[in-house]
Amino acid sequence: MNAAVPDIEISEELIRRFDTLGPRYTSYPTADRFRANFSAQNTIRYLEQRAGRSHNPPLSVYVHLPFCESLCYFCACNKIITNDHGKVAEYLHYLDREMTMVAGHLGTERETIQLHFGGGTPTFLSADELGQLMRMLRSHFNFTADAELGIEIDPRTVSPDTLAMLAGLGFNRTSFGVQDFDPAVQEAVNRIQPREMVETAIVASRRAGFESINADLIYGLPKQTLSSFDRTLDQLIELVPDRIALYNYAHLPNRFKGQRLIRAADLPSAEDRLQIFLMSMRRLLDAGYRYIGLDHFAKPDDELNVARENGTLHRNFQGYTTRAECDLVAFGMSAISKVGDSYSQSSHSVTGYYKHLEEGRLPTEKGCQLSRDDVLRRTVIMEIMCGGPLRFPAINQRYEIDFIRYFDAELARLIPYQEAGLIEITVEGIFVSPKGRLFVRGVGLVFDKYLRQPTTSSYSKLI
Ligand code: SF4
Repeated sequence: MNAAVPDIEISEELIRRFDTLGPRYTSYPTADRFRANFSAQNTIRYLEQRAGRSHNPPLSVYVHLPFCESLCYFCACNKIITNDHGKVAEYLHYLDREMTMVAGHLGTERETIQLHFGGGTPTFLSADELGQLMRMLRSHFNFTADAELGIEIDPRTVSPDTLAMLAGLGFNRTSFGVQDFDPAVQEAVNRIQPREMVETAIVASRRAGFESINADLIYGLPKQTLSSFDRTLDQLIELVPDRIALYNYAHLPNRFKGQRLIRAADLPSAEDRLQIFLMSMRRLLDAGYRYIGLDHFAKPDDELNVARENGTLHRNFQGYTTRAECDLVAFGMSAISKVGDSYSQSSHSVTGYYKHLEEGRLPTEKGCQLSRDDVLRRTVIMEIMCGGPLRFPAINQRYEIDFIRYFDAELARLIPYQEAGLIEITVEGIFVSPKGRLFVRGVGLVFDKYLRQPTTSSYSKLI
């Protein structure tokens, strides 16, 4: 089967040839390359370097809220499964400590243009707790009037009143975990949420005034078939979310314990996954969505698509964004910050996170100080991941290099991509074709110097 629409045409043969294992590049170097010798002192040094400068990029803030009431078997997030809502108060207490320390080093004047609550399940928190957290954030950060405030929502945990309350707190973007509407699939992954529940939540979000509504789907789940996923797409398209993310399920039971509860025999075959992917792509494009890159689709007038068309799309830990280069300060267990030429990641476990803060230290567990070559490669990879174009003169001027010489070996490795019509390489730069947008990860990883070294991480394929 081909996914053929005016915008983009992808064949099975192309996918078989160019679908590679690789990172998703929400950062470069990727988190598996962070080092344990990057300490809280390093984090502080980068925060304070920013505090002393007059021209700084704006801030993006991320808060990791790890609690969930039940385990979805496919989940690969860092979460805590509990029914004890009393745990939230303690977590908020330490979040406040961490924010106070970070704001103390960074200063509170910088404009904050983006906030994202991820998890876990952010709506595990009660209305009062979410209100408390927003007051905490507003006391430490200076949000602009047009800041993007986004929250991930598990439809099972919200009512129309919760959504109105979230809009009242200033949230203007929601992202719903839909995954699959088929009852057999939902049972096989332990996540029961009938279509009516999702519909109620999406309609209530719109009524509450949310500007952008995203829905996540996952293909490759147990019990999924081509026709069952076709029905899921019918139902989701009817609800007209502004954006749709179509993730593939990576079955890594050795790494994620919960996935051992999924019977391997129930998983669709590699061939079925490919057909489900191609059918989904065709259906979403036929329904009027535009392909942004990797797993993301958006309506034509959605700002993500407008930015893609203008060449102003960016990528950070929150995925694709229209917001230009920001420093990202992230709070909570395992959260990753990016400040200047550094990344730092907090303790993976909640006990480690609390312990550091209790002892009066930032909870940095590992991180990375980028070299000049890392910064250059990060720019190249991120531009490619956003569909380019990657213009050599601009890179040459910014980094004082001769791109064609510096990346001589990498450009040679890109010849098969050029021959297949996925990219065009000229003396001016690298231009990604519409069908090439599906394979940007493969193009980007050619520039990843760290892939020449061994890693303990297992990367997934596109399909
Ligand atoms: S998928 Fe979301 S709700 Fe389910 S266990 Fe993972 S973080 Fe929690």
